[in-house]
Amino acid sequence: MPVYPVPVYRTSRRTSLTLVYSLVHALCLLLVCSACRDEPRRPNVLLVTLDTTRADFLSCYGARPGATPVLDALAERGVLFRDAYVSAAVTPVSHATILTGRDNPEHGLRVLSGLSGYKLPSTVPSLATTLQDAGWHTAAIHSAFPVSGFFGFARGFERFESFDGVMAPSRAGTISWDLQTLQRRSDETTNLVVDELSRDERPFFLWLHYWDPHDPVKLPPAEALPANLPRDANGLLLPSRELYGAEVSYVDQQFGRVLQRLEERGELDNTIVVVVADHGEGLGDHGWEYHRILYQEQVHTPLIIAGPGVPKSVVEATVRSCDIAPTIWDLVQVATPEGGSGRSLLGLMKGAAEAPRAAYMDQINGYDLNAKMVEARPQDAFVYGVVHDGWKLLWRPHMPQASELFHLRVDPREQTNLYAQEPERVAALQKLLAERGGFVLAPFPPESGADSASIRAALDKLGYAGGASAYLDSRWSWFCPSHPQLRSDELSPCGRCGAPPLVIAR
Ligand SMILES: [Zn+2]
Repeated sequence: MPVYPVPVYRTSRRTSLTLVYSLVHALCLLLVCSACRDEPRRPNVLLVTLDTTRADFLSCYGARPGATPVLDALAERGVLFRDAYVSAAVTPVSHATILTGRDNPEHGLRVLSGLSGYKLPSTVPSLATTLQDAGWHTAAIHSAFPVSGFFGFARGFERFESFDGVMAPSRAGTISWDLQTLQRRSDETTNLVVDELSRDERPFFLWLHYWDPHDPVKLPPAEALPANLPRDANGLLLPSRELYGAEVSYVDQQFGRVLQRLEERGELDNTIVVVVADHGEGLGDHGWEYHRILYQEQVHTPLIIAGPGVPKSVVEATVRSCDIAPTIWDLVQVATPEGGSGRSLLGLMKGAAEAPRAAYMDQINGYDLNAKMVEARPQDAFVYGVVHDGWKLLWRPHMPQASELFHLRVDPREQTNLYAQEPERVAALQKLLAERGGFVLAPFPPESGADSASIRAALDKLGYAGGASAYLDSRWSWFCPSHPQLRSDELSPCGRCGAPPLVIAR
């Protein structure tokens, strides 16, 4: 059969060639791999944001022993920052600072809900965009909606496991979110993470967001709850500090599964782990159960960093959430983008002395369409805070007489307001605030050419008339912190010293 030898011959020739190619390929791989063995492996970065988690509910920050063994062990092998602050006590604003190394005025995401000002602008670089550009596999796995793409957080992520497409008016006519369906409990989130960690050969940057302590909608399983939690007459669990603490402990337990998975894969030693909270929770302190205000229980958060290049230490100095991204960039040797106040913490972590950092924070509740709490707490419509060298000012420009000054070193629970007794210190801290240029002087305008009158009418119809729009017609005057007698109705530098005039009062 003359036809067969030809194809047989061809096949066998192809087989030999394939064999040769395979051998050459294998040899090349061997050479490449022995070359890369000499190069340091680029580390993975695992950024964990614990929503609504007060520092003082972690054992390593003074809670009862055994409450958070996984986080305690992480702090033991890395750095624990005892005095870390976030830039806001509302989820998207605070997360924007953590991810960009910029304070709120610098990144531009100022409120949870507005006609604008609720989205991270596409021009702002983040950990995700920079690490993706530098060759990291980037992924985000979230547990609730306020960190979704709606707020501009998806940019730079190859995988973005979040809650998009949910921010619409409900049938009741108000803008609200179904907390039951739009959140994942930490065990579900952890399952997604465990899968994610097997996906890619490249080093990864993974942003993991947990949410459990935010609300009692999805509780830990019964076996993870202590027996003695407060209950009502029908045996139903009541919101309580104990229940909140049980949710924090459950997240800790689930996070342990992530670290265990990394260890099983041999990746734990090559992974920089950063754990921070976006804000805390009132739990009744200062007469308030929730967040959106700026007392210590809302803004003093855990911050733990561990992994390659991270010494074992405890840092007592004040640090800010805007310092987190520059620290990560420093550790992985990727350039920190211009435009942020954040500075690497690596020097402090290694014991270097430096001048105290000023931690800036704000809550623009008065112009946040979702901040109905200003009806109950009008003094918190606008709060601008700064922590510097053991002192903390909470400046309320629309109600200056309600401003507060605390000496945190002797009064960490903020019980004694020294605002009236310490005018010089108040002025110095006001100056620090003014230099940050963070004061929001008018409601956020519509994003595009939308007709603001019709948007106002629509908002009124949605029930926001008593909220933000109550502040739309406020009148302001400005003064220099060093020369408050020189008030001005116009926004201009101080006539005496030329300082920015950005301290405002009615
Ligand atoms: Zn939050």
